Amino acid sequence: MNRILIVEDDAALRSSIRSILERNGYEVRVAGDGASGARELQAGIYDAVLLDIGLPYVDGWQILSTLEGKRGPSVIVISARGGEEDKVRALDLGADDYLAKPFGADELLARIRAVLRRAQPMLGPGPAIRNGDLTIDLSTGIVSRAGVDVRLSPTEYGLLAVLARHPGQVVDHRTLLREVWGPSYGDERNYLRTFIQRLRLKLEQDPKKPEIIVTAGSRGYMFGQSGPGAHST
Ligand code: CA
Repeated sequence: MNRILIVEDDAALRSSIRSILERNGYEVRVAGDGASGARELQAGIYDAVLLDIGLPYVDGWQILSTLEGKRGPSVIVISARGGEEDKVRALDLGADDYLAKPFGADELLARIRAVLRRAQPMLGPGPAIRNGDLTIDLSTGIVSRAGVDVRLSPTEYGLLAVLARHPGQVVDHRTLLREVWGPSYGDERNYLRTFIQRLRLKLEQDPKKPEIIVTAGSRGYMFGQSGPGAHST
């Protein structure tokens, strides 16, 4: 059973989300302010967190920054603020998705299913893909550079794996969004920009001159082939 933490100070909203999730088979814990939310996150193991931004004591931004870079739960920011700037900031700080209030039960459940699905990357027989000193082992999900593991969030890994499965081929924006985020996505180019930027910072020698994840004009992105040395095993 998937465990979900709701960090939300609006009691009515918190209990309505809780009952929606419980009716749909999730195990739910709740926190009514940022400080107890942060404590819950340290103490418990969660698959996903629904995180409000405007919270007493410790706000959602602070909680997000403590989670950044850790292999923690998937985070869906739920916020009434809803501006594009907040959305980009949330994704930049490592959130997996952003849901503007008010939202319906179906939309909430679809987003949760999508982040949980992404958190279990499709592993299976697959080659080790190489580009320069970077290796992506599609059968284990391990990414390393010059033998050192690179830590990627589930969404970052998912995006990289879709591109790496088609080295040298352009994968268009819509296909990437559907494959990685889920079938109801397709127009969220800002998600792609944010996550591609994060991947480049982690993977590229020079993120400003990317050779691993190449922008293919306005069509999409491509996993680069680093010349004759590039090969898969
Ligand atoms: Ca709030």
